[in-house]
Amino acid sequence: MRIHFLGGVREVGGSCIAVETDYGKVALDYGIKVGEEVSNQFPKDFDAVIISHAHLDHSGNLLSLSRGNPVIVGSRITRDVTTDLLCDMIKIQNMNGNHFPYNNQDVDNIKKSWWIRDSVALLGMSIQLYPAGHVAGAKMTSIHVEGKEILYTGDFCLHDTEILEGSKPENLPQKPDALIIESTYGGKTRLPRNELVDQLFRQILRTIERKGNVLIPAFAFHRSQEMAKRIDQAMEDGIVPNYNVYTISNLAHKITGYFNDYKQFFTQEIQQQKQPFNYRHVKELHRTGQIQEPAIVICTSGFGHAGASLRLLTEWATDEDNSVVINSGYLPPESPLKIAKEKRELIKNGNKIPVQAEVRQIELSSHADQRELIQLVEALEPKRTFLVHGELEQAELLSEKISGITEVYIPERHETISM
Ligand SMILES: [Zn+2]
Repeated sequence: MRIHFLGGVREVGGSCIAVETDYGKVALDYGIKVGEEVSNQFPKDFDAVIISHAHLDHSGNLLSLSRGNPVIVGSRITRDVTTDLLCDMIKIQNMNGNHFPYNNQDVDNIKKSWWIRDSVALLGMSIQLYPAGHVAGAKMTSIHVEGKEILYTGDFCLHDTEILEGSKPENLPQKPDALIIESTYGGKTRLPRNELVDQLFRQILRTIERKGNVLIPAFAFHRSQEMAKRIDQAMEDGIVPNYNVYTISNLAHKITGYFNDYKQFFTQEIQQQKQPFNYRHVKELHRTGQIQEPAIVICTSGFGHAGASLRLLTEWATDEDNSVVINSGYLPPESPLKIAKEKRELIKNGNKIPVQAEVRQIELSSHADQRELIQLVEALEPKRTFLVHGELEQAELLSEKISGITEVYIPERHETISM
């Protein structure tokens, strides 16, 4: 059996790993890099493609497979959100007047080829999916083949959040022959989550006291719903006083509908609520023109590149009473949010405008931090561990910490390991 590391090694983005025997070939994820286009860089002769979750760096290249009737395996939320995000990608390409070789028929093909199941037997391989935490519907994948056990984590976390339980190491295959683990935060330990949530509430309260606006750019999938539910619950509990709170993103609103429909993916508490993502204090708007200020607004895009978040960022940044809360750990180098935070400026119609608003980064990340990564390795005791989905420096920092427990390897792109 061979493992090929095709993408998403020594970096974050474009994840794809092939597991191959003489009889069959399976892909673990099929992603693109942030800001890059769908490409034909990966092989297409897979018997099945397993998608860990609906982030495009794990699923965005599926369009390039859409005309070959692939078998795609993943959870229902992963299927529905991935296909929505791919439709959105096609829409943006067409709006920008680019020649994009894919259309909604290709997305339909992907949807039709999708198997929603947690266990698949295929060509001598026994494949099993397990909850990964991270985002709704995210799964880890184990492949039992030729007497060996491989476990691929995809993106994961062990910590619980307000809406989602973390992955449970005790339910995963113990002592696998190979663990392929993400290492995004291989060298970083974050503050406990409740302290980060406290920071968020303190920032909101400070801004409310001066009657300012709070802008929270967030991804349409998961971050947006998690943030809306968190603030909704805080208002219900009296932690945050009543204030106008809005979400603006048609895509996010559509995904919120899936969250209400597929409650089984979430915590017990969420499952007991009738329509858990029909908020009591948070209203869904379609346009920024409908906002009644002062307000807290959760909107796309997550990096402030476009849409409502760019418009509000430019409009609100010049007022020192306002706040911008960045909840993502990673920001692309040229993103308006990064420039606003680090250089305290924005570019509007070619002119620089100074940023007066408070810009706070509160990393409510859905990835495991170094402590959780070590905890998983300690719990599973894998024979060999391959570090992927992390900058080389992060992977090396993690490697130092776990090399006493397992044989660690940081593969290079296109490297093949035989087992
Ligand atoms: Zn992810």
